[in-house]
Amino acid sequence: MTTEDPPPIRRLADWDPAGLRDLAETYDTPLYVLDQGRVRENVANLQTAFHDEHVSYAVKANTVRRTLETVEDAGLDAECASAGEVQRAVDAGFSTVRYTAVNPPSEDLDHVVALHEAHPEIDLVVTIGAADTLDALAERDYAGPLAIRVNPGVGAGHHAKVTTGDAPKFGVPYDRVPDLADEIVERGYDLVGLHAHAGSGIHGEDDLAAHRELVARMGDLARDLDHDLDFLNVGGGLGVPYHPEQDPLDLDAVAEATRDAAGDLDAQLGIEPGRYVVADAGVLLTTVNTVKPTPETTVVGVDAGMTTLLRPAMYDAYHEIRSLADDADDRDEVTAMVAGPICETADVLGRDRRLPRPECRDVFAIGNAGAYGYEMASTYNSRPRPAVVSLDGTGETSVAVERETLSDLTRLEGQQ
Ligand code: PLP
Repeated sequence: MTTEDPPPIRRLADWDPAGLRDLAETYDTPLYVLDQGRVRENVANLQTAFHDEHVSYAVKANTVRRTLETVEDAGLDAECASAGEVQRAVDAGFSTVRYTAVNPPSEDLDHVVALHEAHPEIDLVVTIGAADTLDALAERDYAGPLAIRVNPGVGAGHHAKVTTGDAPKFGVPYDRVPDLADEIVERGYDLVGLHAHAGSGIHGEDDLAAHRELVARMGDLARDLDHDLDFLNVGGGLGVPYHPEQDPLDLDAVAEATRDAAGDLDAQLGIEPGRYVVADAGVLLTTVNTVKPTPETTVVGVDAGMTTLLRPAMYDAYHEIRSLADDADDRDEVTAMVAGPICETADVLGRDRRLPRPECRDVFAIGNAGAYGYEMASTYNSRPRPAVVSLDGTGETSVAVERETLSDLTRLEGQQ
């Protein structure tokens, strides 16, 4: 790293509170704010650390068109998990797209095969994670390149629900890969790569050890196959510090360890982070609706909840919460539970948080919300999804996704 490199992480405290308050005032809340300038910085940091490797963006972390365009322009390729993601990536201008098919529905295969035929200029690779997906593609006369998603038997991640490398759902069992590779080639397909993904949120020593083990196993497999490969992709999962006191990942060290573990390869080594590209480029703004002292804690009811940001309810994930009140420094602190408006006990964005004594109409900022935030939003409890505003990095702000309305909720029900 040189002194000109962008900072490794943008903390919630680094966002300008007055600027965020203005955005909440102008666009209302709940509101996602995405800074494309920071997305570019994250891409630059990845490109610097993984200078000899191929870096794709796992678009599932954030598929907002404006973000995809930024990532494409900054030079990454797209890794997609569904036909919808492939279409979004193509629409945003990506010309190299990997489609990693997870138990693909027929419609997904139909769509991707048709897209491959209609757009030969797009460098599309389909990565299969089950042998019978090969038959399904052959039935559709798919003639493009293929890769195999391997289940390496080694997983890692911030929560059991995102540890994939040892989950039988994902990938072809390690020992069966050589036979499937032979079959792919015998059936006339171009086998271009191998792929594996340990899990999401790789951060601590244990996770990094698992990542190295996965890469080493994949390196061995690539060398043992009787076929030449173009690439060996060892997945995404690079973690970000959600806790303010957590250190950022040492990206150079992870890159070095990845290279070392892979060993000598004829194929290009690649990674496909999602979260790392977008997490700290986003914050979620939410307004306090109610402040309720209870014997246990002060319950602060805000207008964003598990339908806006699912990660705390789904993964017990920690997101830093900061009051943007202009007199926050003058208020004494309380211990608070920050809860959403959804009728579920799990609808809590933060527990035991020390916050300047909250008042109704205060605005809170929730950090590291750029990855798997808007993307996992839903309309449960008939709550319209929030808007997303994009900061273009030069001071311009624009709406990237409109706020849903109550009538959007019933639009697909037609006239009844
Ligand atoms: N690649 C694959 C196959 C994945 O399933 C995922 C996440 O689910 C990713 C990459 C991206 O993970 P992350 O956003 O943690 O980098």
